[in-house]
Amino acid sequence: MPRPQRNAARRPARRAADNDGHADARTDGQQGRRAPLPSVGEGGKDSAARVLLQQGRARPLWFGHPWVYANAIDRVEGDAGPGDIVSLLDHDGRFIGRGLYNPRSQIPVRLCTRKDEPVDAAFIRARLGRARALRARLGLPSPATDAYRLVNSEGDDLPGLVVDVYGDAAVVQVTTLGWSQRRAEIFDALEAELQPSPKTIFEVSPAGYADLEGFAASARVARGASRVSVPALEDGIRLEVEPLSGQKTGMFIDQRETRIRVGQLARGARVLDCYAYAGGFALQAARAGAASVTAVDSSSRAVARIEAHAAANGATINAVEADAFRFLETATPRSFDLIVIDPPKFARARKDLEAARKGYERLNALALAAAAPGAVLVTCSCSQNVDAETFERIVAAGAKQAGRELRIFERRGPGGDHPIPPGFVEGQYLKVLLTYVA
Ligand code: SAH
Repeated sequence: MPRPQRNAARRPARRAADNDGHADARTDGQQGRRAPLPSVGEGGKDSAARVLLQQGRARPLWFGHPWVYANAIDRVEGDAGPGDIVSLLDHDGRFIGRGLYNPRSQIPVRLCTRKDEPVDAAFIRARLGRARALRARLGLPSPATDAYRLVNSEGDDLPGLVVDVYGDAAVVQVTTLGWSQRRAEIFDALEAELQPSPKTIFEVSPAGYADLEGFAASARVARGASRVSVPALEDGIRLEVEPLSGQKTGMFIDQRETRIRVGQLARGARVLDCYAYAGGFALQAARAGAASVTAVDSSSRAVARIEAHAAANGATINAVEADAFRFLETATPRSFDLIVIDPPKFARARKDLEAARKGYERLNALALAAAAPGAVLVTCSCSQNVDAETFERIVAAGAKQAGRELRIFERRGPGGDHPIPPGFVEGQYLKVLLTYVA
């Protein structure tokens, strides 16, 4: 029986290339991708221009929301070029904050401060310092974990900037024109703020955003020693991260805490890690003393990476190159005690919602069919368009389809190194349900 919805779900859509938060709002309504503009290059200035909001549109911004949508703007006073810093005011001229300006974006202003202060090299350095202080508070880095997110875009008041640290390297991902014009200041600040200074600074700025914002995409060693991979540790597990050829900045750091949690639940279990990428869940399970560990990914590169990681950690993992749907369809029913499904985004934009819903439902039903009585199913969605409540309903529908009962015993999201401002729903993307299968 043809199931067209599976094709939509199977499309090898990558997870959002950056802080997933701004992917959807950004691409919605911008479906026809514009031709890339010539790179604007360095030199965004700290302008005196003022952006005034329409009547009644300031409330979320007063309460900490960092984005101004194009349709909320009343007028721009003064001279502001793409990438400049502007001041944001409400309709009555009250100062709200300052941020990056890009008139070609659906989100022309992204706030980075609530103070009337310059946004310059010293500002970037101070924001990095604050970002580092939060991570230090969370115990990052530690002797066991030196792979962590140092800068999480809006959550660190640097909208469109992600910095992931892997051991002695930093990987910078820029998705807004303003920061692309200030890359030198960002690299300087990283070298000053991280001690010792990173041996390599990589830049991976994906084309999708670069085209939308009007700068040149980039995947390169920006500073320091040239290399293709960097050793890193996550909870004592050895990883080799390839920033220039991997997805995102090279790893999915957002799932670290859940990978550790899975390790705690894996002892003696027959474990299946679907959409395994670098094998993070599988490696945790193997170390915890799982009875067997199978990791599935459709990418041959991922399978090679998982095998290398298994060898480096003395773990036995059966790494399988397969489409996860296909693998689950042919798996022995009720044969796994712990199953993780962590697929790429199914809903990239609102128009994909229905296909995504069906895809998630079917995937969860298939996983449940493979789950033994008493199993734990860890089910994830990183589609920002599918909110937490909707995702729970979809999982419930999957259970019904499979004729199984399940209980949610834990709800999780990204780790603490992925902060977001309160009320910034666009930044809430990753949902993880830990469920017990009767
Ligand atoms: N669980 C991983 C992250 C998963 S990212 C971690 O903890 O690091 C999503 C992964 O799904 C990618 O590695 C991608 O190659 C893989 N993938 C995409 N489509 C797939 C499909 N149809 N079947 C199996 N794997 C798929």
